[in-house]
Amino acid sequence: MRNASVLVLASTNRHKFEEFKMLFKKHSDIQLAPANEYIRNSDKLSLVETSDHYYDNAIAKARACNQGCHYPSLADDSGLEVDALQGRPGARSHRFAIPKAGQTQDQANNLKLLEELKGIQDEKRTARFVCHLALVIEGVLVHSVGMMEGRITRELKGDDGFGYDPIFIPTGYTQTLAELGLEVKNKISHRSLAVAHLMEDLKRQNIILAKP
Ligand code: IMP
Repeated sequence: MRNASVLVLASTNRHKFEEFKMLFKKHSDIQLAPANEYIRNSDKLSLVETSDHYYDNAIAKARACNQGCHYPSLADDSGLEVDALQGRPGARSHRFAIPKAGQTQDQANNLKLLEELKGIQDEKRTARFVCHLALVIEGVLVHSVGMMEGRITRELKGDDGFGYDPIFIPTGYTQTLAELGLEVKNKISHRSLAVAHLMEDLKRQNIILAKP
């Protein structure tokens, strides 16, 4: 049986950190810590994301983080797959657009996506968020996947969340993730399903994420 008290998240995205913190609270009393508290050059962790596959990127980030801090390390690689764009932007979701002056990366991404889908009818605007999680703990690698189906709106709506949240309506809902807010998002999201699957796998392997 392996026991861990601190889990380091290989990400500099504070929104992702907040989501994971809430999600792990449901399953374990482990202390989730951001990589910048344990690794000097934590902003360089994303440089290992060189693949077009979420799986490879998540594993590379978790391994790099674990090598840098020697604590159990968790990494997520996620993205949005739009059917009308044959799965783009996918693993390239973060740097989909080049921001113009005064624009954030997220704003640029959302506007580019809406522009590319301009002529696409409502029923063909289907998409899904995908999250691959990789956990490295004492030399063992555990991987899990979660997905959330939905569709892309015609305009940005809502202020909560990050990334493509203002233009994504989950299946079964009428509002965007940015309107629904974190509590609802964390019940249905790709990230929450990936965490639930990860916890099941850890249990099967008798690995305990808990304070000693
Ligand atoms: P990465 O996993 O850090 O490489 O980046 C994933 C990118 O996908 C983010 O920068 C967002 O643009 C997008 N993304 C992933 N998960 C979400 C989400 O939960 N909401 C909105 N956008 C997301």
